[in-house]
Amino acid sequence: MRSEIGTGDGSALGRPGAEPFPVQETGPGGGRAAAQSEAQAARPGGCTLCPRACGADRAAGERGFCGMGETPAIARVSFHMWEEPCISGTRGSGTVFFAGCPLGCIYCQNRSIVAGSVIPGGGSDLPRAKKVTDAEMADIFVRLEREGAHNINLVTATHFLPCVIRALRMAKARGLGIPVVYNTSGYESAESLRALSGLVDIYLTDFRYMDPKTAAAYSRAPDYPVAAKTALSEMLRQTPLSFGPDGLMTSGTIVRVLLLPGHVKEACSIVSYIHETYGDRLYLSLLRQYTPLPAVMSDPLLRRKVTKREYDRLVQHALSLGVTKAFVQEGAAAEESFIPVFDGRGVEKT
Ligand code: SF4
Repeated sequence: MRSEIGTGDGSALGRPGAEPFPVQETGPGGGRAAAQSEAQAARPGGCTLCPRACGADRAAGERGFCGMGETPAIARVSFHMWEEPCISGTRGSGTVFFAGCPLGCIYCQNRSIVAGSVIPGGGSDLPRAKKVTDAEMADIFVRLEREGAHNINLVTATHFLPCVIRALRMAKARGLGIPVVYNTSGYESAESLRALSGLVDIYLTDFRYMDPKTAAAYSRAPDYPVAAKTALSEMLRQTPLSFGPDGLMTSGTIVRVLLLPGHVKEACSIVSYIHETYGDRLYLSLLRQYTPLPAVMSDPLLRRKVTKREYDRLVQHALSLGVTKAFVQEGAAAEESFIPVFDGRGVEKT
C-alpha cells in the first residue's frame, strides 16, 4: 500500500485542487506508429526497440537480450491492487505482465518472467507464459475493461511493441475507453515511446540509476541514466497530469524510485534530478519494498532489505526539496510488497 506524501495512509485518493479533466490529445498513434516500431524490430541490423539495441534478428527466430522472440508472450493477466492508489483504485488495475525484459536487473523482483535474459544458461521457452496473437491481446484488454478494471496496465511491453500497438488499436476500435498505463523499467528509447503517443495515457516508470557504474553492475546497462532521462522527457511530453472525479489518474507520469540497500545517495540524486527538472509536473513514488532473492545472496549490499533509517533519509530528502506530489510506503505497508505468481494465469478467458 502506498500513500501520498504527508497523508500517512493509503486512503487519500481525492486531492484538493486536483487538475480538472483537460481535453486530451489522442494523436495519431495509429498505423504509422505500428509500422515504425515494426521497422525498429526488423531493421537489417537487427532489433533496436530498446536502448540495448542488441541487434537480434527476431523475425528470423533469434531471441534478443530481452530473452524474447517476435511473438508476444504473457506471463499473467490479473487485477492488481498493489500499484499506487490512483492507479489501483478500489477495483484494481487490469495488469498484463509480459514475459522477458530488456533491462534484466540481477536483483529482479519478477525474475521468473524474465528468465532467458538474466539467468545464466537461460534462453529457454518460458513454459508457463502464453503466446498470443494481436487479436487475442486485444481481447484481453477488452475483457479487463468489461470486468471492471480501472485501467489497462502493460508491464514491460516494449520488446513486443509492434504487436502491442496493433492490439491497442484493435481494442480502441472496439470501444476500449479506460486509460492505458505503460509500466516500464525506464530503459526506453525515445523513438519507441513516440510510437506510443496517443495510445498510452499514463507512464508508470522506474528511474533506477543515476550512476552508470551501478547501472553496469546491476543491469549491464551503463547507458541507463542517459536513456532514462531522455525517455522521461518524452513521457512528460505525452502525458499532462489529470485526474478523474474519483481521484484516479487519467493522464500523467509516475516515476518510481526503488531504494536499493546501500544506495541512498544515488536514490537521493535521482529525486533531486527529477524534482529540479520537472517539479510538480509528475508524481514520484518512493519504494522501500526491495526484497532480496536467492540470486543476490552473495552480494554484500543486495543480500539485505532496506533499513527504516535508509528509507527515512530518502523521504526526508524529498521533503527538504519541497516535493509534494509523491507516494511513500510507510511502516508495515512496505511489507505488503507482493510478487505474484507468473504462470500464464488469466491469459485465457476462464
Ligand atoms: S527489445 Fe529485446 S531484441 Fe530488441 S533491442 Fe531490446 S533486448 Fe534486443
